[in-house]
Amino acid sequence: MTKIKNKNETVELPYGLRDRRQLKKNEHFGFDCHDRLECFTRCCGDVTILLTPVDVLRLSRRLSISTTDFLGRHTLTPITKDLQLPVVMLRMNDDPDKRCPFMDTAQGCAVYPDRPWSCRMYPLGMALPPARAGVEPEPIYFLFEDDFCHGRREKKEWTVEQWLKNQGIAEREELEQGFYAVVSHPWFIGGRKLDPKRLEMFYMTSFDLDTFRRFVFSSTFLDRFDLEDGLMEKLRNSDEELLRFSPRWLRFSLFGEPTLKAKDNQSGRNS
Ligand code: SF4
Ligand code: SF4
Repeated sequence: MTKIKNKNETVELPYGLRDRRQLKKNEHFGFDCHDRLECFTRCCGDVTILLTPVDVLRLSRRLSISTTDFLGRHTLTPITKDLQLPVVMLRMNDDPDKRCPFMDTAQGCAVYPDRPWSCRMYPLGMALPPARAGVEPEPIYFLFEDDFCHGRREKKEWTVEQWLKNQGIAEREELEQGFYAVVSHPWFIGGRKLDPKRLEMFYMTSFDLDTFRRFVFSSTFLDRFDLEDGLMEKLRNSDEELLRFSPRWLRFSLFGEPTLKAKDNQSGRNS
C-alpha cells in the first residue's frame, strides 16, 4: 500500500490508485470521449472492473436475467483473500484481448445506459479512507492519466463535481450510500474480519438482490421483524427499495445495530 496525505492524516490507498494525482471536487481536468478518437473502445479490454450492488442490479435487469444468474455468468468468484469484505469483478472474455463481454466493436458499449460505476467514473478514481470512529469517511478522488487514453488530450474541461453529475454518479449516491456505510463501518477498525457465514450474508444481501428478496419473503424474516407500514409491499415490488433496505439488515445482522425492530415475541437474535 502507498501512503498519501489527506486532510492532515495519513491514509492507505488501494493498489492501482498509488501515485495518481488527487483532485478536489472543484478542481478541473481535461477530458472527452467519443467515437472519432483512435483509442475508442481500447479501454474496454483486459481491465479490472469492480462492480457495485447497483451495477449488478442494473446490468442483470438490462440483460433480463436474475442477479444470481448475472453473478454466475459475468463475474469472477468473489475475491476475499486478504480483504475484509468480498469484491465482485466483471469477468472479461476468454480471448487474447480479454475484451469486456459488453463491448460491441462497431457501437462501443452495448450496455451504455447501465454501464458500471467504474466505467462512468473513468478517468477518475475514488477511494474511501479506512473507517474511524465518529468520522464520516470522505471520498478521495484521483485522475488516471493513462497514455493509451487520448481523451485526456481533448479540450473539454470538467470539475470533478461536474463529471460526477454528467455521468449519473451523483444520482446513484443516494442508492449506494447505505452500502458504503457498511463497507466503511467502524466495526472494521483495527482489521477485524467477519466470519465466513457473515461474509456470505454480506455478499448475498449486497449483490444478489433476487436471492435477498427470497430470503426476506420465504424465510422466517417477516415473522421475526416489524417493518414500517407499507414497507413490505415496497420491498416486494421495488428493486431500489430493497437495495435501500439491504444495509439495514446488514447493520443488524453483521454488527448487531438496532436498525430493525424484532417482533414482541422474538428475542431479536441477529442471525
Ligand atoms: S478516450 Fe479514453 S475512455 Fe474514451 S475510448 Fe479512448 S481510451 Fe477509452
Ligand atoms: S461495460 Fe461498457 S464501458 Fe465498461 S468496459 Fe464494458 S464495454 Fe466498456
